Amino acid sequence: MVSTKMRSFPESAIRDMSLLADEIGAVNLAQGSPDFSAPAAVKRAGADAIREDYNQYEVTTGYPALRESIAAKAKRFNGLDADPEDDVTVVCGSTEGIVDAIVAVTDPGDKVIIPEPFYESYIPATIISGARPVHFQMTDPEFKLVEEQLKKAFSSRPRAIVLNTPNNPTGRVVSKAELGLVADLCTDYDVIAITDEIYEYITYDSKQHVSLASMGDMYERTITVSGLSKTFSVTGWRLGYVVANKDLSKAVRTIHDYTTVCAPTPLQRAATVALGLPESYYRGLAKTYDKKRRFMMSALEGLGFRFSRPEGAYYIFADYSELSDLDDYAFAEHLARKVGVATVPGSSFYADREGGKTKVRFTYTKKDATLEEAVARMNKNLG
Ligand code: PLP
Repeated sequence: MVSTKMRSFPESAIRDMSLLADEIGAVNLAQGSPDFSAPAAVKRAGADAIREDYNQYEVTTGYPALRESIAAKAKRFNGLDADPEDDVTVVCGSTEGIVDAIVAVTDPGDKVIIPEPFYESYIPATIISGARPVHFQMTDPEFKLVEEQLKKAFSSRPRAIVLNTPNNPTGRVVSKAELGLVADLCTDYDVIAITDEIYEYITYDSKQHVSLASMGDMYERTITVSGLSKTFSVTGWRLGYVVANKDLSKAVRTIHDYTTVCAPTPLQRAATVALGLPESYYRGLAKTYDKKRRFMMSALEGLGFRFSRPEGAYYIFADYSELSDLDDYAFAEHLARKVGVATVPGSSFYADREGGKTKVRFTYTKKDATLEEAVARMNKNLG
């Protein structure tokens, strides 16, 4: 018999759509994992570390040289003064980092603000900790955080807020002004911010990623979560990290220790090589994704989808109401089975399933040839 808690877990629409894609041979634009290679130097470093026998437990907080690289990068790129010894923890993907963070700061019954639409793992992470999600919807179609709604959510006296920028599924890069509103409310209501910045290096049109923890005194009350999955195209390596002050990090580390012990030892060695790649690597990454973004925007616009131009990450959250009256699950099923392209139904990113019900999410973290095939199928079969 499973727990009541387990029964309140939502199904993973992303996993279900990926399984369907595999089963019927649809092009998988549902799952946000690249179908192209990770950087050769990083792969080589992983293989070397295994061969050189770095195959046993690493210290639970993370390989010291990697923590130093993360602290240096947090200073350089995010504007954070993190002590590599006390403030940085290497975990098994940002997914684990978010669970650790929520468990670390909430007691059963506490509230956690999760703006909609959201990345699906935040809800189970909250349920695991015994806390309760509190939602409000970002404006549609701009997907902004507005003061009135934020204030209402904070007035419910939450313990924490989870904020994801650049955002999945909307592609929004949260502005400094919006982050300022969140920072003020966190301070006024004594709330901890947990930020998911996994797409921090993928931004477009000169949009700048800003870390909430870099604003004013927010470092003291922010748990910054990121990882290597998206930046280095190694989603299967399960490498993430958490940056927070000593007290918050201590709690995160305890949970990490008792759940996963440590992140994969040889891959942590390879991660130091990844973080040592030159600036040109990051520029190249954003440029490559920008090309894919433009290709998909133009194709989807031509087909009659409507959407806000993604400012970051690698998704297009597209409204199809000019193309079909089907609801989002039925439309995604039609796209997969009849057209041959798998996407994710929009309402799966909302607790209030009315949100997103005329939308599907496309990812473009795929080879050009994969995207071209998907577009060819839609041009031929959609309509
Ligand atoms: N956070 C967001 C917003 C994501 O979109 C994803 C993956 O799609 C993750 C976290 C998972 O990252 P990781 O592989 O580091 O667990």
